[in-house]
Amino acid sequence: MLILMDINATEEQVRNACRRVEEMGYRPHPLPGATRTAIGITGNKGAVEADALSQLPGVAEVIPVSKPYKLASRDVKPENTVIRFANSDATIGGEELAIMAGPCGVESRDQLFRSAEAVARSGARFLRGGAYKPRTSPYAFQGLGEEGLEILAGAREQFGLLVVTEAIDHISLALIEQYADIIQIGARNMQNFALLKLAGQTRKPVLLKRGMSATLEELLMAAEYIMSEGNYNVILCERGIRTFADHSRNTLDVGIIPAVKRLTHLPILVDPSHASGKRDNVAPLARAGVAAGADGLIVEVHCDPDRALSDGAQSLYPAQFDAMMQNLRGIASLVGRSVHAPQTAGAAR
Ligand code: PEP
Ligand code: MN
Repeated sequence: MLILMDINATEEQVRNACRRVEEMGYRPHPLPGATRTAIGITGNKGAVEADALSQLPGVAEVIPVSKPYKLASRDVKPENTVIRFANSDATIGGEELAIMAGPCGVESRDQLFRSAEAVARSGARFLRGGAYKPRTSPYAFQGLGEEGLEILAGAREQFGLLVVTEAIDHISLALIEQYADIIQIGARNMQNFALLKLAGQTRKPVLLKRGMSATLEELLMAAEYIMSEGNYNVILCERGIRTFADHSRNTLDVGIIPAVKRLTHLPILVDPSHASGKRDNVAPLARAGVAAGADGLIVEVHCDPDRALSDGAQSLYPAQFDAMMQNLRGIASLVGRSVHAPQTAGAAR
């Protein structure tokens, strides 16, 4: 159920409607829009007493939401969600593409800082790097843990980048909430509902990667888990799905981008690195993602990929990343977007 407030409704009337929803035993989610506020209602087992709510002052309409995902739906919020940050003018879902880049995993201070400097110089605004790595083999590099988070925080200070890093459980989540700007939930945890709820209780934006065999509806329901806890800043990410193709690590589902745009107001990024598995195929997939309307990219970049402790084969050399960024500027302008300008040394912001 959804309450649409009148265009002229006052803040007090919005608060009053939320109070009434709470008195009924449900949870109100006020979502301010460009012209009016909508209040999503969750927590109801059956039908909500719509009549009582539609009589309240400032309420224009009370309408049922038929989709299983509500807060993520465009029915509830027609305009795109744009995520902003207190300490940066970078956005996600705005006109400028959100470009996140860096190594798969944080391996050392030197390794991360070299990548961070390179990607900032090429125009990235966000630094990626896993401190907790969910690896297929228990014997593979598992990440540096909190030491990795400290290194990421140091690079943020030095290069003026916003940090995105993956939480794999409730312990890493609590630490990442303190250290990072964006909490990443990986493909393997897309349906870890307990973790999604905990991420929803934080106040940091959440980058939610599509599970390797998840449908669009399953992805949106996973986003709904986060939003139902009161965190509306969710960024979706298409990172390739499992198919019968054996020429690439995964198959980039470019078609999900327009489908996502139709159904939800949430931004969507493309991860061409995990989609392709091979560095030479990363830039073409990145271009396809931007051309199809993605709001940005998350890309693996490593200064010495042959020695990388994870995902070296799909990591771009800094020069390749720089060339990709230059190329994307042309495509971005064709689809009404822009890419942050390259930065001169020492002025990476
Ligand atoms: C990653 O970003 O390094 C990662 C593990 O991605 P995914 O969850 O998409 O496999
Ligand atoms: Mn990786």
